[in-house]
Amino acid sequence: MKYDVIIVGAGASGVPAAAAAARCGARVLLLEQCAEPGGLMTAGLGFPVCGLFKNDITRPPELLNGGLPEEFYAAVCKEDRDPVVAMGRVYVCRCSTGLFRRIFRRWMENINLTFISQVTGIEVDTAAGKIETLRFRTAGGEEQTVFPGQVIDCTGHGSVIQLSGAGRIVPSALPLAGFAVRLKGVGPDDLLPVKVPFLLRKAAGEGSLPDWCAFTFFSYGLPGSGEAFLKFSPPAAMTAEQAAGTASRALTFLQEGLPAFQTSETVETSPAVLQREGSRLQGEYVLCEEDIRACRRFEDDAVRGGWPMEYWDPEKGPQYIFAEEGGSYGIPGRCLHSVNVHNLWAAGRCISATSGALSSARVIGTAMATGEAAGKAAAGSFK
Ligand SMILES: Cc1cc2nc3c(=O)[nH]c(=O)nc-3n(C[C@H](O)[C@H](O)[C@H](O)COP(=O)(O)OP(=O)(O)OC[C@H]3O[C@@H](n4cnc5c(N)ncnc54)[C@H](O)[C@@H]3O)c2cc1C
Repeated sequence: MKYDVIIVGAGASGVPAAAAAARCGARVLLLEQCAEPGGLMTAGLGFPVCGLFKNDITRPPELLNGGLPEEFYAAVCKEDRDPVVAMGRVYVCRCSTGLFRRIFRRWMENINLTFISQVTGIEVDTAAGKIETLRFRTAGGEEQTVFPGQVIDCTGHGSVIQLSGAGRIVPSALPLAGFAVRLKGVGPDDLLPVKVPFLLRKAAGEGSLPDWCAFTFFSYGLPGSGEAFLKFSPPAAMTAEQAAGTASRALTFLQEGLPAFQTSETVETSPAVLQREGSRLQGEYVLCEEDIRACRRFEDDAVRGGWPMEYWDPEKGPQYIFAEEGGSYGIPGRCLHSVNVHNLWAAGRCISATSGALSSARVIGTAMATGEAAGKAAAGSFK
């Protein structure tokens, strides 16, 4: 079967890429290894959506990008009258995982778009600087071969980039990863977002829990949900079983130390340890920290980013570097296109950027925008 554009990965960047290419009239195939679209946002049991707005809370929120990020925000506002929250020096948009998936599912309802979930064993054949075929296995075990015009890697860790032999950037060290726990039965206490990190930091300092427990966040779920979340930041090399074991010890510690936790229970955990960074495209341009600090613009700007650089240092925890107040930077289209495989594009965490630059450009709002830009560019080149 021949497709104009094939996208691998149906997360924050892949679904917008597929929707944008399909709206341009391209015949699109979207492949995903999980049963449902959503990517890290849903595996992380819900994140506030960052990177939609300029980082200036002295003024009303202003969207950085039109198109699908703007459509996304409008769709959230239909269900939540006031979803924008100021967090420190930035605005974020709160959104449940259920609503996130519903919006993505709506975007995928396009006659030009075929979605195949639970695919495994993707293989890629490249010849003369072009991806000629993609092979994969369906959930039913059937082997399929498809012929792409253009391919967009939205896997978050550059699997298609690697398989195609395209130039890629491989990080030399990985930042702290993530592991989320959904709880029920946590009693009301407005100070828990402060008390929980304080107690866990103390326990880590005294050696009763590992050091990385010092960087744990607590939050209640959406009003009326009865839910609460612990967000841990384990080292990138840790397995889900190891992270779950430590999370369970940390919960016991909180149950013993905080009355509000006495009747708490774990309902769900992340299915894996979630990586903030992986290998990615070597594009025609590599976005770097200096571009972000200087709020640089390019002639071929495809997207605007505004989130601070947010590096999760394994020793010091999250480190933030802000561009000037309200400032935003451009992400040139060249960061989305492979330097040596002509029909290969990337979006989300797979764009061509240094670790520092990606620590800003990877957030969901920006990932949606790079996805849309890559989808449109690939659809424009499929002939
Ligand atoms: C711990 C943690 C906390 C975060 N917190 C926030 C936050 O609060 N706010 C925010 O805006 N951002 C946050 N982020 C960042 C954000 O979630 C990601 O950077 C963003 O989702 C990147 O989008 P993506 O499309 O590149 O990858 P993803 O959303 O991860 O999507 C990749 C998709 O590709 C699929 N896939 C991978 N390999 C294959 C394969 N071989 N075949 C088929 N499918 C495949 C995956 O299953 C997945 O669905 C956080 C990230 C982490 C790790």
